[in-house]
Amino acid sequence: MIRKKCAAIVLAAGRGKRMQSHIPKQYLQIRGKPVLYYALKAFQDSFADRIVLVTAPEDMDFCRESIVEKYGFDKVKAIVPGGKERYHSVYEGIRAAGECDYLFIHDGARPFVTEDILRRAYSCVEKYGACVVGMPVKDTVKLADEEGFAASTPRRDLVWMVQTPQVFAYPLIKAAYTLLMEQEEELLEKGIRITDDAMVVEAFTDQRVRLEEGSYKNIKITTPEDLKIAESLNDF
Ligand code: C5P
Repeated sequence: MIRKKCAAIVLAAGRGKRMQSHIPKQYLQIRGKPVLYYALKAFQDSFADRIVLVTAPEDMDFCRESIVEKYGFDKVKAIVPGGKERYHSVYEGIRAAGECDYLFIHDGARPFVTEDILRRAYSCVEKYGACVVGMPVKDTVKLADEEGFAASTPRRDLVWMVQTPQVFAYPLIKAAYTLLMEQEEELLEKGIRITDDAMVVEAFTDQRVRLEEGSYKNIKITTPEDLKIAESLNDF
């Protein structure tokens, strides 16, 4: 039973340098529709109360007309401009989302998130206050040193690939991101790169982040081969 107020931030402000395409990955097409369409549709059809879409400033009109209005995604209550790094975009999304019980933060480049994943994440955040979906790795993972040699091998049964949504109690994620923005320069000086939201909670709060089962299909469209995989996974 979903009783709490849930908002979602869907991130689409990245430029996708690894895709080798002039079109950002979230706007590439899978079976005739943009990747971002599928991510928004999952939240539109879910228990989420509202969605904040974060895009590059120059893509806001395109997103409003050609995705949000075209497909009738009326839960999208705001489209806001993102920032240089993913965490800047998340921060803008948090500010626009406003008060809610739980905030779902999702990559617009992950089209295959499902209602089941969203429900598992809801139950998880309700129990633990902070939840990240992901899957155990299939391959052995090596940590490399700066010269490109294997430095260590973590126990495979403890290594997860994390995905989105990453879901948090609203006051927690707001406080963590506010601290991040205040201390951004020091982190940059130390060479720390923020690549997901759980990292922010881990760094700036005492809250433990629970890992919950996502799906091996919940891939992020990042490099050209991911699009081919997505075409074959798409069963809509
Ligand atoms: O670059 P990365 O693969 O981590 O991007 C994950 C998601 O974050 C993508 O959906 C991308 O559009 C979004 N992003 C963003 N603002 C940025 C960088 C990435 O909204 N500055």
